Amino acid sequence: MTRLVTRPSDLDLDSPGRRDYWVALEHDSIWGEHLIPLTVLVGANVEPGRGLVAFGSNHGNEYEGPVALKHLLREIKLDDVQGRIILVPVLNPSAFHAGTRESADDGVNLNRAFVEGAGVTAALASITHRIAAFVRDQIWPRVHVVIDLHSGGDVARFSPCASFHSLDDPEQLRVIEDTARWFGTPLIMVYQNQTPGLLPSEAERLGKITVGTELGWGRAVNAEGVRYGRQGVLAAAIHHGQLRGEIQPIAHHKAGTQRKVALVDRECFTVAPFAGHYEPLLECGASVECGDVVGWLHDFDHIDTEPWAARAGVAGVVVAQAWVAPIQRGQHIVVVGREC
Ligand SMILES: [Zn+2]
Repeated sequence: MTRLVTRPSDLDLDSPGRRDYWVALEHDSIWGEHLIPLTVLVGANVEPGRGLVAFGSNHGNEYEGPVALKHLLREIKLDDVQGRIILVPVLNPSAFHAGTRESADDGVNLNRAFVEGAGVTAALASITHRIAAFVRDQIWPRVHVVIDLHSGGDVARFSPCASFHSLDDPEQLRVIEDTARWFGTPLIMVYQNQTPGLLPSEAERLGKITVGTELGWGRAVNAEGVRYGRQGVLAAAIHHGQLRGEIQPIAHHKAGTQRKVALVDRECFTVAPFAGHYEPLLECGASVECGDVVGWLHDFDHIDTEPWAARAGVAGVVVAQAWVAPIQRGQHIVVVGREC
């Protein structure tokens, strides 16, 4: 199998067949290229503007998505593809190879880079904004289903979830929620839509069926997380007409134990009032009442003081907590979703 080094403008994402590319975007600092692995499988029934794209490594230190998609590169057979499937296991190679959340070359967070002028204006011309421009120019016009596989990185441990924003269009929202449920994760999460520059927000605004995930944390590979990611992508491809086949529900979806939670108001997020060290008392996924102590924040500079109680701001489910023990002042150390 040959994987061709190709400029974005020379990609063929439309002709029937399978093509494996290294999408080459010019490097900012060396004489060379950033190489994004992209495999496209196009079936005989492909329609303009229709297809599924799945991204891994939007952030560089999240590994379940890249691993799940790397498996799917080999598992999905061209003969079974009806429409168009685009797999991008590592969307941000600069961050992935550095093992960091932001790109190593320009320090930009790709999931904040989908802003006006990205990759077009001189002030936003470094690699991360040019990746956003590549997605806008080449991918968005060809897909109606967008899967963006994230994990918690160093920031937070999670109860694995498939996530989306609350949207005005009830039909789009219904289809997105159903697509999210098929991942099989214990939680389905609806989250606030205030953060600018998110890849999924832009896809949603364009009317696409868009699902994000948190499949693990701590720069490790969580076995369940990989399974959820693989299942969610395959189910979306089958249910949205891009892949032939049958699929059965798994895990919490199959068992009927999935819980839907909302993270939309400020009270869901408990903010660290000082820099310290975090000790969890509960696991993610635990049910809590408003005011329950979820963990302690310790101040080792004032070692004889009582730890500060990190309390649930609302009644619901502990969705996430700080992972790495050292905590910055202002960090969200406990995140509780309201059941809905
Ligand atoms: Zn991420």
